[in-house]
Amino acid sequence: MSPKIIEPGCTLGIVGGGQLGRMIALAAAECGLKVHVYGPDADSPAFDVAASITCSAYDDAEALARFAAGVDVVTYEFENIPRETADLLARHAPLHPSAAALATTQDRLSEKDFINRLGIPTAPFRAVDTPDDFGRALDAIGRPAVLKTRRFGYDGKGQRIIRTEADADRNAIFAEFGGAALILEGFVAFEREVSVVAARAADGSFAAFDLCENEHRDHILAVTRVPAPGIAPETAREAVGIAKTIADALDYVGVLAVEMFLVREADGTERLVVNEIAPRVHNSGHWTIEGAATSQFSQHVRAVCGWPLGDPSRTGGLRVEMQNLIGGEVAAWMALLAEPGAHLHLYGKGEARPGRKMGHVTRLIA
Ligand code: AMP
Repeated sequence: MSPKIIEPGCTLGIVGGGQLGRMIALAAAECGLKVHVYGPDADSPAFDVAASITCSAYDDAEALARFAAGVDVVTYEFENIPRETADLLARHAPLHPSAAALATTQDRLSEKDFINRLGIPTAPFRAVDTPDDFGRALDAIGRPAVLKTRRFGYDGKGQRIIRTEADADRNAIFAEFGGAALILEGFVAFEREVSVVAARAADGSFAAFDLCENEHRDHILAVTRVPAPGIAPETAREAVGIAKTIADALDYVGVLAVEMFLVREADGTERLVVNEIAPRVHNSGHWTIEGAATSQFSQHVRAVCGWPLGDPSRTGGLRVEMQNLIGGEVAAWMALLAEPGAHLHLYGKGEARPGRKMGHVTRLIA
């Protein structure tokens, strides 16, 4: 595909008003673009830094059409927008990543099918649409297993580990998930969770940031360390190769993240298992703002505007650590501002509710 070049001074439309949209908007402004953010919540963090905003629902066809017709290119900051919304946007302006890439990756079933067809391993999985399916899937996969909603899950929401016979009470579980389409996955006994954040441009060029290690607490990303420690260089190269294979197969334009489990076999061999693809900039790439020559946000803007991708290498080759500020942790903002070498980012969110990502801090380590 020959890329449409978006000139500085043009308007980038961003669907979604969270912190990811906010940081894309800031990067776009650095290159002279104007930003129009579309989101349903009046207090969206990205609204604070946009030249124009539309505050409306993701299924408001009229508002979406007006928004897309008024911008030069559209991107999105989260994958849970309906396929119909993406198709509608694409009728009015170039949409990157494409509606097809979004549709493949926003449903865990089609996503895992797609990944396996590329010859890339995932956890074993079965679709679960009825209580009977659940029984059959458990027989096939065994316990422990993880039951997840196929769509709209994030930060561990919409999932449950099935360990014991009692956990496998079909009716109780169906009541809990409220009839949503589900997937049962085998539990992966991983040593670490890692991710590749990478960009692909419309001309097929590809640039990956270094492999990250991600430590979660209560299912929410707490700390990202780069480069991922204790991993063989060939495994890190393989992880980047997996991300490239996925991006090429999706004919992807923009930044994506591929989350993987690192499994260590008894003989010490390392094996990668893909957990999921995020068709957007990703929390595990926030370190790139100070920690890489080009940030993931600039890289995303470059890709969707048809500009050359930037250098993804780490600043001065230093190790980097990114810590999320979750809920009340943001209260330490003054101390963090006073800490030499700590780079503080606050998202401008009002209430520091438990589990809410309020900001992050990045440290470059000599
Ligand atoms: P997800 O929403 O798929 O990213 O899952 C959230 C977190 O749950 C992951 O980061 C893992 O820590 C854990 N998890 C998800 N799926 C599995 C699995 N199949 N095996 C083991 N842990 C899992």
